[in-house]
Amino acid sequence: MLFLFCFPQTAFLQTTSVESICVGTGYETPVYIIKTDSKEPTIMIVAGTHGNEKAGTKAAEYLKDNIKIEKGTLIIIPEANILACEKAVRNFPPDINLNRVYPGNPQGNSIEKLASKIFNLMKKYDINLLVDLHESIEFYKKNPKNYGQTVVIDSDDDCLFELSSFLVEEMNKGIKEDSNKYQVLVDPVKGSTAYSAYYQLGIPALTFETCRKLPLSFRIGEQIKFVKIILSKWNMLAVQR
Ligand SMILES: [Zn+2]
Repeated sequence: MLFLFCFPQTAFLQTTSVESICVGTGYETPVYIIKTDSKEPTIMIVAGTHGNEKAGTKAAEYLKDNIKIEKGTLIIIPEANILACEKAVRNFPPDINLNRVYPGNPQGNSIEKLASKIFNLMKKYDINLLVDLHESIEFYKKNPKNYGQTVVIDSDDDCLFELSSFLVEEMNKGIKEDSNKYQVLVDPVKGSTAYSAYYQLGIPALTFETCRKLPLSFRIGEQIKFVKIILSKWNMLAVQR
């Protein structure tokens, strides 16, 4: 009897290219485009909108170097406000919050120009989902003014609510401490990346927030896990065989 064992090699035909936005200014920051043979779905991951929320940036950097996809396109911006990231401050300049000025203004101040460039990328790549990675100083469950351990959506439309509920359920598997568990929040924040994606471009958008009271290595792992669950739900993640 002849047994044939077939182990097909997964074709990791992904290519990564880099383009920069705000070239020639202090806010020049790289955008990584990971492509496969099939364009769709196209998911954009933004991190470093706030420079003191390190886990998202570290996770985005890990993903751009290590992620293997076999379908779709992944666009990653690890340090949206690169000067704030370099200085490890929330906003730079301190009085302008990048997450309140979308869709930006190409003729405006440096942060409005930056927002406009990111907004244009969402349009240019015709993205199907925006994932904005953030962190908060406190657990939402301890002080609802802060959004630590939440997935924030800007509308309770069925599709977005279903997706965020699924993600929260997956993320909570294995988390024992109640305050560390994630929950979905519906909170439209005008001028945010996610709000602008959803209301101005019709793109489903999620803001993911870990709590900075948890250890950094754990938070980075959580941010990576969150993105990977999304990629695997869309069958984009390459299966290691
Ligand atoms: Zn933030």
